[in-house]
Amino acid sequence: CGIVGYIGHRDAYPIIIKGLKRLEYRGYDSAGIMLYDGESMKVAKTKGKVSDLEEKAKEISRNGNIGIGHTRWATHGVPNDVNSHPHLSNSGDLVIIHNGIIENYEPLKKELIKRGYVFKSDTDTEVLVNLIEDVQKKDNLKLGKAVQIALNQVVGAYAIAVFDVKKPDEIVVARLGSPLAIGIGEEEFFIASDASPFIEYTANAIYLEDEEMAIVRKNKSIKVRKIKDDSLVDPYIQELQ
Ligand code: GLU
Repeated sequence: CGIVGYIGHRDAYPIIIKGLKRLEYRGYDSAGIMLYDGESMKVAKTKGKVSDLEEKAKEISRNGNIGIGHTRWATHGVPNDVNSHPHLSNSGDLVIIHNGIIENYEPLKKELIKRGYVFKSDTDTEVLVNLIEDVQKKDNLKLGKAVQIALNQVVGAYAIAVFDVKKPDEIVVARLGSPLAIGIGEEEFFIASDASPFIEYTANAIYLEDEEMAIVRKNKSIKVRKIKDDSLVDPYIQELQ
């Protein structure tokens, strides 16, 4: 189970693939990637190894300076292609990768089904991305706000990265009980379960604390907030050796 993300000016694909390989020691059964090329999202995912994902990704265009990648250790739903991450919301606008467990996914899922949502996978994660979408649509919220409200309804553990194709200059990340590091480069950000995927690109990193979320914006600075009370956090930028 690992997470890698990139937003900046470089090709995201090789950074993410190499990063996922560095996180292979954490163990996993499936792997997947989403790349945004400035127009649309391309997703490839598969049961198996990161090398199987590279094979699968030959079917998509691998361009883009924004992307998120995932290795899955299945907790809800067997390891197969459909249950692999990333997961899209019903509208197809939101995409998520998630390490951890949404413990109360069943009542949330029932409620979403009542509201017309359909589910392709058996994962708890697909429930979360649709919950975020539902929250977002009700009040026409920005992604960060919708993620925050949704996470306050969730019981469990997570490191997540969420992307909204309607506002494709940012990635929202959050953590509770699963590690999440953010590498800060020059007008670029890296996201990963530990610093190994981005250590060659930058020496500056923020390790999110539990119950913190961050919005990383292309060409801009990073904002870290407490998920519970929305207070701004002045993040400690660690210098990596
Ligand atoms: N609970 C999620 C799933 O089963 C994420 C598992 C993980 O940590 O990789 O898909």
